[in-house]
Amino acid sequence: MSTGQKFEGSKPLKKHLNKLKCLQQQLSRKQKGSNNRNKARIKVARLHYRISCIRQDTLHKLTSHLSNNFAAIAIEDLNVKGMMSNHVLARSIADMGFYEFRRQLGYKSQMRNNHIEVVDRWFPSSKRCSRCHVINDSITLGDRVFKCNNCGLEIDRELNAAINLESTVSSTGFQACGEKGAGPDSCRDETGLNEAGTKPCTDLYTF
Ligand SMILES: [Zn+2]
Repeated sequence: MSTGQKFEGSKPLKKHLNKLKCLQQQLSRKQKGSNNRNKARIKVARLHYRISCIRQDTLHKLTSHLSNNFAAIAIEDLNVKGMMSNHVLARSIADMGFYEFRRQLGYKSQMRNNHIEVVDRWFPSSKRCSRCHVINDSITLGDRVFKCNNCGLEIDRELNAAINLESTVSSTGFQACGEKGAGPDSCRDETGLNEAGTKPCTDLYTF
């Protein structure tokens, strides 16, 4: 987020993957129609269920936190389908429950009358320097730190992208808040104005 706060993506499947592989292997060795095969099948199903519960729980906590604390949220409209066709990324994206994240954030924000800004997927949020706005084309998915060849800025990659997204929202009339010390309550009241009294606050979540 543009405040510098980060949320770890929940990856329960990765964590439980070895256990799942092991159980599936056990299942495949059991004789068809046997009692033992049935028991093994139940174990696999239970673990699948547990993984989906952890995933749902983590996402609900995150989307509730976001929609309770921020009156405006900007997210990037990433090309999830395109990324799913990349086998290296596909499992981790599916595991993060991106679609579910968008769905939950959507209905929770609607309930609270929050503004959701979806930023064009072609906006170069990761490649643009958030200080001088020069594009750095050489940055790859593997680079965790954004380095600007023009002004020398070195900044966490996600933070750089979040600040870039924030600037797109600010330029459409929303102003960022979330300075340290300004609690969530100062960002939200019934009129939708912040303490400065003029504009709703914004915060950003990127993925
Ligand atoms: Zn720069």
